[in-house]
Amino acid sequence: MIGFSDKRRRMVREQIEAREVRDLFVLKAMEKVPRHLFVPEAMLDRAYEDSPLPIGHKQTISQPYTVAFMTEALELTGKEKVLEIGAGSGYQAAILAELAGEIYTIERIPELAEQAEKILKQLGYKNIRIKVGDGSLGWAEQSPFQAIIVTAGAPAIPKPLLEQLDDPGLLVIPVGDRSSQNMIRVRKKNQKVTEESLGPFRFVELIGEHGHQKND
Ligand code: SAH
Repeated sequence: MIGFSDKRRRMVREQIEAREVRDLFVLKAMEKVPRHLFVPEAMLDRAYEDSPLPIGHKQTISQPYTVAFMTEALELTGKEKVLEIGAGSGYQAAILAELAGEIYTIERIPELAEQAEKILKQLGYKNIRIKVGDGSLGWAEQSPFQAIIVTAGAPAIPKPLLEQLDDPGLLVIPVGDRSSQNMIRVRKKNQKVTEESLGPFRFVELIGEHGHQKND
């Protein structure tokens, strides 16, 4: 019987290091956070698979590699105030909390936010605040953020998020249509904004005022 921490070590080696995520702090965080506690009980034995998994309400916890890749792209140094849009299971927020100062995360589905809050509290994270709402509007009262991460696919970069990004600051967001997106990294520095494309990904939709229209 292989334990969860062995599975996690193997996940980091075979899915993440093998795909060239190099930041040692990111690898350490991925090895530490118990991903299996963020998936529904029925998914327990699949928690360390190389894929996203359903978490209910037609939403998913992202693939481990995607979480590591986006986290590395934020270039965190330990002190940042970070905004996450799409808390989902809370797993990405826990990884961020290992690597930055304060995490603010927004989730539009109240039941998911409640479950995420519960597990994050159980694990003892004190630097994560979660709220229910439309994250495409950002969290103005808490801005500026040195890093912003959007974990749902957007049709375009929501303007409020650009406004709430600090200078210097980094925003990572998948942008595209409902079925596939390109990961974009926006860098704000010396009052200039530059965009860089980091490759194709597939996310559930960002639904909101500056996202897709709700169609269910
Ligand atoms: N980061 C998550 C992945 C969640 S999937 C994790 O680690 O598990 C994306 C999430 O974004 C879903 O839970 C979905 O409900 C949420 N979402 C979609 N549009 C949103 C919006 N406008 N504001 C906040 N959350 C949103």
